[in-house]
Amino acid sequence: MSADSGRTDAGGPQAAAQDVAQDVAQDVAAPTGAAPAAARPPAIEFRHVTKVYGEGTPRQYIAISDVSFTIEDVVDHGEICSFLGPSGCGKSTVLRLVAGLEPQHPPSIGRVTVLGHEVAGPGADRGMVFQDYTSFDNRTVLDNVTFGLECRGMPRRERHALGLEWIAKVGLDPRRDARKYPHELSGGMRQRVAIARTLILRPRIILMDEPFGALDPATRLDMQDLLVKLWRDVEATVLFVTHSVEEAVYLGDRVFVMATTPGRIVGDLRLPPASAPAREIQSQPWFRDNVRSLHEQIERIESDAKRLNGGAA
Ligand code: ADP
Repeated sequence: MSADSGRTDAGGPQAAAQDVAQDVAQDVAAPTGAAPAAARPPAIEFRHVTKVYGEGTPRQYIAISDVSFTIEDVVDHGEICSFLGPSGCGKSTVLRLVAGLEPQHPPSIGRVTVLGHEVAGPGADRGMVFQDYTSFDNRTVLDNVTFGLECRGMPRRERHALGLEWIAKVGLDPRRDARKYPHELSGGMRQRVAIARTLILRPRIILMDEPFGALDPATRLDMQDLLVKLWRDVEATVLFVTHSVEEAVYLGDRVFVMATTPGRIVGDLRLPPASAPAREIQSQPWFRDNVRSLHEQIERIESDAKRLNGGAA
């Protein structure tokens, strides 16, 4: 989600928390059965999707145009797919269309399907982690992490036991940190809480919108390692929006490159999985080669956009 996108939707932590609440509230009605492996529909499919904001008004704006891609539902594994591109190319729009969140949902043209069903709104099969710290300020870490379980009606003792497990899994100290409030945590710790709160619900699809964008570089690498470790455990499909080339290459089994004006996919790259910690991988030749060529591609995209906008991009 770009800071300079000038978006008019209800952004920010409180709105994001409401999104999460809305998401969880719909859990009960959501389908749970997984199709047999042979008949699995794709995890996510976009077919010729265009999103126009402010359609029919003088402020009408084509955010993404004719976007098509398929992400397979890789059995017992999942994939991490990075969406990389300059600010304003529509990365968050794509992610929020998958989440079924308004005003991105519904698309103006085309079809978005998740696990074979057309997206009709938020659902329990999808969990979201935002860049902004989306914890509820008046709840402890434990009560934030277990918020979704509480909405699902899980008894307190059971959800607290599971919550403490997840607090440990994301690298926090269950004894020291569980009773803290969000204002007592660092940025990295708060993102650990956000990740625990999403993954504890075991969504099949995890949508992450620049979740580490506000963290310092060292914490960011630690969080990338943590995500890879947890992802191996939850075996979900992850859509990860970033404008850091290094982050996209490290995390992505697949990297979608997006360009602006209008937002569209211009590259779809398959890369080796994150098989070692981020700090180790960063010195490997394949990593550096891919980072260099993607930096060059993004620079070309940015200068094309500047030319198109008469130097105003
Ligand atoms: P990114 O995540 O790549 O920065 P976004 O998906 O946030 O891009 O935005 C794509 C374009 O659509 C931007 O130009 C942004 O200003 C515009 N946009 C995003 N949300 C809205 C909205 N709710 N209303 C109008 N324009 C929007």
